[in-house]
Amino acid sequence: MKVEKFMKIVFHEKYYNSEYAWDPAASAGRLEGIMDKISENKEFEIITPNPAAEEDILRAHTQRHLQNIKKDKLLFELASLAAGGAILAAEEGYKGNPTFAVIRPPGHHASADSCWGFCYFNNISISLLRLYSEGKIKSAFILDFDLHTGDGNINILTNRNDDFRVKILNPDSSGRAGYLKEVEQYIENLTNIDIFVASAGFDQGIEDWGHLLYPEDYYELGNLMKIHSKKLCKGRRYALLEGGYNHNVLPNNLISFCEGFK
Ligand SMILES: [Zn+2]
Repeated sequence: MKVEKFMKIVFHEKYYNSEYAWDPAASAGRLEGIMDKISENKEFEIITPNPAAEEDILRAHTQRHLQNIKKDKLLFELASLAAGGAILAAEEGYKGNPTFAVIRPPGHHASADSCWGFCYFNNISISLLRLYSEGKIKSAFILDFDLHTGDGNINILTNRNDDFRVKILNPDSSGRAGYLKEVEQYIENLTNIDIFVASAGFDQGIEDWGHLLYPEDYYELGNLMKIHSKKLCKGRRYALLEGGYNHNVLPNNLISFCEGFK
């Protein structure tokens, strides 16, 4: 089997635990359909993460925020494991292995010292700052195609005091054709990017909250990231699950993205 047809999926059984919060991201049964579909497809290899270390979390968050999350033992355990999943996906993506992390809780609404919107630790920031701290990358591109703007990603990763440069696109064109065109034009104009990452929320789906994107559109978003990461940075790319709340369509939308991304 050719390496480029192969895709890694980061997952841990503990992500099924829906007791950590009462919100739509934490709802019971949200991840089961995804993993059922992934298990059926031999092109996907499931890999298991460890929790992120505090040192990793503190590259993106304040000590105060870390201590606040730690007050809830289960929440801290699962949020650390989600961040660890992001780090594993980043390590694989950096090696040129396309990887999707089916992690929970999501992270793109978590800022350095606060959080909201079903998020606790900023998974994408923790994973990118780990690679940056290891001297592996100096720049990144994030496509955040969740329905909601990832304010935490923007707050932590842009306007930094160091030399880590991150470009983030939260597409906002109306209509699916305009949306895809916006993404394509933005990506075509990128230069000097060391790794591509998706804040992959599926709540913009036609049968989800945003009522905009079809499964084939998610395929196209994945494919654009594949093509242009190969052009710019040896195919280094990974994606992290953010939103997506209609359990009936979330698996298909996510798999469609992966088919284009792999
Ligand atoms: Zn969302």
